[in-house]
Amino acid sequence: MNNVVIDINDVSFSYGNVSVLEKISLKIFEDEFIGIIGPNASGKTTLLKLILGLLEPDNGNIEKHKKDDKEMSNLIGYVPQHITFARDFPVTVREVVMMGHVSSSSRLFRFKKDEVEIAKDIMQMLEIEEIADRQVGALSGGQLQRVLIARALVCKPEILILDEPTSNVDARVEEDIFALLKNYSEHMTIIVVSHDIAFISGYVDRVACLNRTLVCHDTESISGKMIEDLYDAPVKMIHHHH
Ligand code: ADP
Repeated sequence: MNNVVIDINDVSFSYGNVSVLEKISLKIFEDEFIGIIGPNASGKTTLLKLILGLLEPDNGNIEKHKKDDKEMSNLIGYVPQHITFARDFPVTVREVVMMGHVSSSSRLFRFKKDEVEIAKDIMQMLEIEEIADRQVGALSGGQLQRVLIARALVCKPEILILDEPTSNVDARVEEDIFALLKNYSEHMTIIVVSHDIAFISGYVDRVACLNRTLVCHDTESISGKMIEDLYDAPVKMIHHHH
């Protein structure tokens, strides 16, 4: 069994007096590809914010463990659901990707040679190298998503967290992005939030079903009944093969 990298221990959280998460416990392992699924407003983004340390639990705790002694700043890479920069801001693909280095580099926008090389390799892998000099405002949803994933990858995180990474892209791009994440998950812990269990269960090792409380399943054991219980409505199950 691989090492635990994130240990969520009996965590509860409320916004004011509205309880969003209750007694959540979940261990996430090294090099695991895990999906967090659940209906809208079930607390998925809140759970990610707690893992990222942007929110503090009311009860319980979350421990994060590093593989080696590298600085804490490279532990987690995050791809937010909503883009955090204005799309009309005059900035190129290359510049956005290089921003991933800013957290680990104190000199704003002056990068070391190896940092430039790392970004180049990642852009190549994500097939965005040929659009490196384009303005981000002119990109399609799928291209922009790849740029944001590249930005999260350049700081070489041990854990990559993505919040609905394919909500703005078509089915073909969605498949490409998940195939790429599947490859990365051989050497990296990946946590992906989605509302589409049928799709992601073809890629992830395990799904955590969230609706205030949490249940975990191996993807092999997901049934239509289980999804129905979670969403409280009949959901069509699409079969998949590993
Ligand atoms: P999901 O990501 O599953 O859609 P969220 O974690 O975003 O769910 O939200 C869970 C619940 O918490 C929702 O009812 C939402 O309206 C509420 N919520 C989210 N953020 C805040 C906030 N900053 N203040 C108050 N309520 C919030």
